[in-house]
Amino acid sequence: MAVYNFSAGPAVLPAEVIKQAQVELNNWRNSGMSVMEMSHRGPEFMSIHEQAKQDLVDLLAIPSNYKVLFLQGGASQQFSMVPLNLAVENNQVDYLHTGEWSKKAIAEAKKTTQVNIVANAEDKNFSYVPDFSTWKLNPNAAYLHITPNETIGGVEFYDLPDTHQVPVVADMSSTILSRPIDVSRYGIIYAGAQKNMGIAGLTTVIIREDLIGHAKVGTPAMLDYKIHVDNDSMYNTPPAFSIYMAGLVFKWLKANGGLEAMAKTNQHKAQLVYDAIDNSNQFYRSPVAISNRSWMNIPFTLKDEALDKPFLKQAEERGLLQLKGHRSVGGMRASIYNAMPVDGVVALTQFMKEFQKQHG
Ligand SMILES: *Cc1c(COP(=O)(O)O)cnc(C)c1O
Repeated sequence: MAVYNFSAGPAVLPAEVIKQAQVELNNWRNSGMSVMEMSHRGPEFMSIHEQAKQDLVDLLAIPSNYKVLFLQGGASQQFSMVPLNLAVENNQVDYLHTGEWSKKAIAEAKKTTQVNIVANAEDKNFSYVPDFSTWKLNPNAAYLHITPNETIGGVEFYDLPDTHQVPVVADMSSTILSRPIDVSRYGIIYAGAQKNMGIAGLTTVIIREDLIGHAKVGTPAMLDYKIHVDNDSMYNTPPAFSIYMAGLVFKWLKANGGLEAMAKTNQHKAQLVYDAIDNSNQFYRSPVAISNRSWMNIPFTLKDEALDKPFLKQAEERGLLQLKGHRSVGGMRASIYNAMPVDGVVALTQFMKEFQKQHG
């Protein structure tokens, strides 16, 4: 039986990537060593690191005035690093509040800066992105922080308002590499790897050069972007195996048509699930505003909460795993990242239809 993993993160990896990691596990390319055993400063790992960086630059068409960092600490550590590094001369910062992840980012920024919430979607339980026209942008803000895909709420947006000189900082943990983006519109993009880029332990930061080197006096070395840039992400031991795995994912993306192709497939996959929801005569419901529905994380509820348990049980029996929704939304959540095959989504929608027939 085919098994499909709909976990929000750590999440499904491309089957080919796991296979290759297995083949190379105890002897990487005749080096006689596993990647797990290599010095991070040796020529073998240095080549893995360089290649991964270059492939990411290629995939996202990252302009030359940006640096790519492979760090640790998760996206959660970026919640602290961003204000410590960017809000020095001006302590005022703008945050868009769209859900559980922006909430955490805001809480961290409040410890060291003066946070202005430009717009807040809490009034409708974080089910939408407030219209740009309502955002109260501060022209003097050190930066504007956004969460383009709220992994828990399943709310996604890609357009940006004109922020003039204010750099945009985006937490793209659950959406990076799901479609092409114009990196030049952002000051910083950061993402934990374990959703759409690889395995836990790695956090990728893409930072515009002029934003480097302004950390608050007293900032710990490990939280200073400049230290990491000056040391090419090797100030201390980097998450070597996680970088290797991300590198395999980047190669897989390149071999499968890059981000244009991913975007097409992702939109198609998401549409299949939303169609199953919308054509269910309210047996299934999406809490998210139609124009902000995520391609990556799709929360949905069942007509009767009492059906949640049987739904999950029967889904599991059919090899459809980890569909339980986050407690703040309830119901189900299907995370369908790049590595989720179309077949997995089709299996899910078929099951949804059958389950409705039984219980509708
Ligand atoms: C998962 C997630 C995080 C937290 O990532 P960690 O790597 O666990 O720190 C932050 N933001 C978003 C949008 C996420 O999906």
